[in-house]
Amino acid sequence: MRLKKVEIQGFKSFADKTEIEIKNGITAIVGPNGSGKSNISDAIRWVLGEQSVKNLRGSKMEDIIFAGTSKRKALGYSEVTITFDNKDGEIPIDYTEVAVTRRMFRSGESEYYINKNSCRLKDVRELFMDTGVGKDGYSIIGQGRIEEILSNRPEDRRSIFEEAAGIVKYKSKKEEAERK
Ligand code: ATP
Ligand code: MG
Repeated sequence: MRLKKVEIQGFKSFADKTEIEIKNGITAIVGPNGSGKSNISDAIRWVLGEQSVKNLRGSKMEDIIFAGTSKRKALGYSEVTITFDNKDGEIPIDYTEVAVTRRMFRSGESEYYINKNSCRLKDVRELFMDTGVGKDGYSIIGQGRIEEILSNRPEDRRSIFEEAAGIVKYKSKKEEAERK
C-alpha cells in the first residue's frame, strides 16, 4: 500500500485545485515559511477523519476552508482526496486503488467517500485500522509527536504497538460489542 496522490481544493491556502503526485521513493516538500507545506499534512489527516480543530492548527473547523485573500473571495467548501495504490491488498477492500474523499461546507457537515461511494467516517476509520494509516496512525508523525512516542506514559505508547501489531480492529469491535 502506498500513497500516490493528494488532491486538495479549498483546503486552507489551497484555493485552486492542486494535485500532488507522489512517486516511488522519498518525496520532500520544500518551500518558504507560510507557503503551505504543513497544510498538506493537515489535509491528509483531515481527510482521514481528524476532528480536532487544535490538531489542524485552527480555532474552529471552518478555519480549514480557504478564507480568501485581498484578491480572492473565500470559498464555500473544502475537499480533499487521497489515493492509495492497493495492489498488495493491504487495505481490506477489493480495489487495487483506494481513494478517500472528505468534503465539508461552511455549515460544518462533512461528507466522506470511499472510491466515490458515500460512506460514514466510521467506514473510513475501519478501512485503515491496523494499517498504520489514519489520523493517529504511526504513518503520520508530526512535530512534537516523536517526543510523545519516546517519553509518554506507557499506556499511550502501547496504542502505537497495538496498531502495528494489527489488533486495534479486534479491540474496537470488542468495545463496541460490550457497549451494546
Ligand atoms: P513553515 O515553513 O513556517 O512551517 P509552512 O509551509 O508549513 O510554513 P503552512 O503552515 O502550511 O506553512 O501554511 C500557512 C499559511 O496558510 C499561512 O499563510 C496562512 O495564512 C494560510 N492559511 C491557513 N488557513 C487558511 C485559510 N483557511 N485560508 C487561506 N489561507 C490559509
Ligand atoms: Mg510548517
